[in-house]
Amino acid sequence: MPEKHQKILIITAPSGAGKTSITKFLMQTFPILSFSVSATTRNARGEEIDGVDYYFISMDEFKTKIKQKEFAEWEMVYEGKYYGTLKSELKRIWSMGKIPVLDIDVKGAIHVQQQYPENTLSIFIEPPSVDELKNRLMSRGTETEDSIQARVNKASYEISFKNNFDRIVINDDLERACNNATEIVSSFLQS
Ligand code: 5GP
Repeated sequence: MPEKHQKILIITAPSGAGKTSITKFLMQTFPILSFSVSATTRNARGEEIDGVDYYFISMDEFKTKIKQKEFAEWEMVYEGKYYGTLKSELKRIWSMGKIPVLDIDVKGAIHVQQQYPENTLSIFIEPPSVDELKNRLMSRGTETEDSIQARVNKASYEISFKNNFDRIVINDDLERACNNATEIVSSFLQS
């Protein structure tokens, strides 16, 4: 269990809702925030760096860590692809006097919230519409058509969980969404 001052900020959303942009903006605005690097079994994409974007590990390693209870939460986010927040990562960030920011999927976010209810603030980033989400994923150009369809299907399902989170930020305009998130995080940090 974290101590009272050991806060956690969770940013969750369907893939493509603009969560990464908002998370980066918040981290630039509040230097006390530190990105929680997740472990994953998926391959690195493009410019991604091991230990910075993710800890890229094998399925065997991931399973061992599950057995040894090293995860605060983990999920098979996509078919056969595992993602998880390591307890050691949260401790590493708290030990620097900082607050971890978890950019994780909806189910993982619900689990972290249940586990650490006192000190956690969760923000759900809502895309303006599923069509808009599809356009964003297509323009990102990093996904295959099958992968886009899988993400769009998953997004519709995930949006149905939005009322489980402390706050909802609608990302119809990135600047407005960033400002809205900034106000929310500012009062969380002062609490
Ligand atoms: P991507 O493959 O695009 O980097 O991430 C896919 C999804 O996995 C995103 O929604 C991202 O937030 C989520 N994700 C990343 N790390 C974790 C994690 O540690 N736990 C969970 N539950 N989801 C994660």
